[in-house]
Amino acid sequence: MATKSLQKRESELANTQRQLEILSNGIFQSGELPTFANKIKETNQFPLKPKSIEILQINVGYMCNQVCSHCHVDAGPDRKEIMTRETMQQCLNVIEKTGAHTLDLTGGAPEMNPHFRWFVEEASKIGVKDFIVRSNLTIIRANKKYYDLPEFFKKHNVHVVSSMPHWTRGKTDKQRGDGVFDKSIKALQELNAVGYGMPDSDLRLDLVYNPSGAFLPGDQMAMEKDFKKALFDDFNIQFHNLFAITNLPISRFLDYLIASENYEDYMYSLVEAFNPSAVASVMCTNTISVSWDGWLYDCDFNQMLDLKVASKSQHISEYNEEDLSKRNIIISQHCYGCTAGAGSSCQGTVA
Ligand code: SF4
Ligand code: SF4
Repeated sequence: MATKSLQKRESELANTQRQLEILSNGIFQSGELPTFANKIKETNQFPLKPKSIEILQINVGYMCNQVCSHCHVDAGPDRKEIMTRETMQQCLNVIEKTGAHTLDLTGGAPEMNPHFRWFVEEASKIGVKDFIVRSNLTIIRANKKYYDLPEFFKKHNVHVVSSMPHWTRGKTDKQRGDGVFDKSIKALQELNAVGYGMPDSDLRLDLVYNPSGAFLPGDQMAMEKDFKKALFDDFNIQFHNLFAITNLPISRFLDYLIASENYEDYMYSLVEAFNPSAVASVMCTNTISVSWDGWLYDCDFNQMLDLKVASKSQHISEYNEEDLSKRNIIISQHCYGCTAGAGSSCQGTVA
């Protein structure tokens, strides 16, 4: 498993233009498969338009203690992009006035941003209805300075959402790195110990599953049942919901697809599983994604492809919800990942 980001490896895929070329050429250019735009035209859903903004997703930096093989952020210890306190303050100004009910902090490992705790403290004072932190779990065990994170999350009533690709050590470590499973189990037990994930607890703990290879996730409810049984039987761990997420063909997952010669087959399976009823609820229809340097995107995936919102208001410093609501959402063939089967978003299935 690679231990460096694509950027550090100087891979050609570290260039977002190159990724977009791959997604537009070959089987899509020849017409063998329809482009996403043409596909949604068939059901009169083009151009894709946003509804009201419900979720503000803020990426506070690409630094991470892990280097997972399918990471769409291309995060890792070698990434130095970190949101400054000044940009965080601009985000706080927006959180205060937005109609969005959910604040979703992500990374990298958001906890590694030196201003993370300050930001959480300030944002929680504003009284967001659902305040999510996407924690990779192992960070809680990575260093003594993070050991109190479960208590910190509890104090600020943070909703913890964490990746856990499988309930077995082998599958988890293969995707996320050696030793990740054992540290994740320990972290989950510590979150349970302060009340997270308990059946009647308001301290929400949800897990995210994404497939370990070039295939689509199975049924979310059935998987949740299997995860709950296995984690409880083997480790006495409880959690609330499991979100099943499809891997989008960008960044390190695109690298994996190409290196394993699965790219075309995977794109075929996404297109074949296209579900027109998922289009209306894809994440970009109710979310704005903010990058570490304050730029605005339709979603976290468009952020990683550097496709900024098509709006006059392109930066958090000039955030204007009315302008943003009029924009067309920027799409490409990676969007097929959000509309396959039951659909996929940061909150799991959508259809
Ligand atoms: S923990 Fe998350 S952000 Fe970090 S490398 Fe893994 S997938 Fe990427
Ligand atoms: S990848 Fe982003 S822009 Fe495309 S459908 Fe999914 S959420 Fe929308």
